[in-house]
Amino acid sequence: MWKKRIQGPPEEAGVRIPDAADRRGIPDEWNEVHVESVRKKARRQIVFTALMFVALFAGMTVFFCRYAILRKSELFDNDYNSRDLLLEEHNRRGRILAAGGEELAYSDEDNNRYYPYDTLFCHAVGFSALGGSGIEEYMKYELLHSDIPFSSKLACDREEIRYPGNDVTTTLDLDLQSYAWEALGDLRGAVIVTEPSTGKILAMVSKPDFDPNGIEAQWEYYRTDQSGNAVLLNRATQGVYPPGSTFKIVDAVELLQEDPSAIYDFSFDCDDGIYENGEESIHCFQNEYGAYEVHHQQNLAQAFAHSCNSAFAKIVTEDLDEDRFRKTLERMYFDKPLPYDLPCAESSSQLLEDRDISVHNLMQVAIGQGTTQVSPLHMNMITMAVANGGVLMRPYMVDHVSTAEGDLLQQYNPRQAGTLMDGETAYMVRQLMRAVTEVAYDEETGMDVWGTASEFNDTQNYIAFGKTGTAEFGDDEDSHAWFTGFTVDAEDSEDGDPQLCITVLVENGGVGSDKAVPIAKQILDRWYGQ
Ligand SMILES: [Zn+2]
Repeated sequence: MWKKRIQGPPEEAGVRIPDAADRRGIPDEWNEVHVESVRKKARRQIVFTALMFVALFAGMTVFFCRYAILRKSELFDNDYNSRDLLLEEHNRRGRILAAGGEELAYSDEDNNRYYPYDTLFCHAVGFSALGGSGIEEYMKYELLHSDIPFSSKLACDREEIRYPGNDVTTTLDLDLQSYAWEALGDLRGAVIVTEPSTGKILAMVSKPDFDPNGIEAQWEYYRTDQSGNAVLLNRATQGVYPPGSTFKIVDAVELLQEDPSAIYDFSFDCDDGIYENGEESIHCFQNEYGAYEVHHQQNLAQAFAHSCNSAFAKIVTEDLDEDRFRKTLERMYFDKPLPYDLPCAESSSQLLEDRDISVHNLMQVAIGQGTTQVSPLHMNMITMAVANGGVLMRPYMVDHVSTAEGDLLQQYNPRQAGTLMDGETAYMVRQLMRAVTEVAYDEETGMDVWGTASEFNDTQNYIAFGKTGTAEFGDDEDSHAWFTGFTVDAEDSEDGDPQLCITVLVENGGVGSDKAVPIAKQILDRWYGQ
């Protein structure tokens, strides 16, 4: 009978331990054997089931960790992923601050995002909505996480409020950004101001601009706008333009690397404002009356200060070693990604792309025309390297991340990107850039020599160095106006430490010295309290 009991349903499951009533009439020794067998079977099944769960759980953990590690950025960059939403549910997005602590972006308790300076920082700081841009997008991970102490989190739990996310402090200077924004006015273009010794970006303005507070309502309009305004484009980093005569900085670097004595003994006679090489010719700047400027006999500093096209066409077509020049261009980040963490455009060099370049195109390379194109950020980097003795510091815009309670989590330190030219060359190019901003007396001719940015000649509190550029494009349109340069404190000598590096680009702005120089000067005059 007991055999039947343990074999037949419903006790077949075997985990039921027979009680005393079940054992009535069955010999004790038989009962003990039976009970022990049932217990063993039960234990085995419990252990097996438990092991199954452990194995399954471990497998899932490994899978999700691997997935999360390998695809962390992908997970995080998906705007609609549940992790973002989950983080936003628990945490209030952190603040973005200027270098002086001013709030550039903050969120309320319901995670609505506000930008107190409206359009002023729109391209640099960006926006968090619609996938994000600028620092908002780049630092999303840090802003959405909260690293306040556990006790503070408990206090938030008690009050049933979100944990405050981490704060991101930028390198951006509120005053300098305001000066740059105001100086550019309603013009299309970009201004970028950096610190050459560290690579800190102090100001970054692109126009036309937009109000990130209302971005969602305007999005469709901006996205489909065909006017060429390209409001959402950060022209400072993502716009590329022919560099015009600012490219003569690069020509000069190459000439002085190949032949340092050229700083003393270079000589060129721009006798009728035209340079001819075989069938090809190039002319110097054509003024508003249609006449070509004639620069007469010049040394290198004069040719650079006057921005003499003929002299530089001669240098590039006759004096330079093409292959060495190509290597220099590669070292200067042409045709490759810039050392910068946020989205930015690659510059292109006609010389690198055309291995069998014609004399005509080589002349175009010399004066920054043709298919050579650079971004204002890249031109600023080249200028920073000249100012900093040839060493380029990697440009960066985030200084540190801290908890909402002010505890430092991560400090971003200056980093070298590379050496763009040797120190001796940098020093000589620096002297050329000083000649551009001066009015110098020429003993040979007995005449004053006006550099193309000689408006800087009267500055009181700082010494300016620079290069202008006028980049022609298309047939009927205006030219783009460029200025790129740096400053030294007036109490220092001309060889003193560089303080600010500034690059101004005005789209369709006309002549660089007419349009871009006054903008750069206005910004620097205000900064130096002039
Ligand atoms: Zn000339």
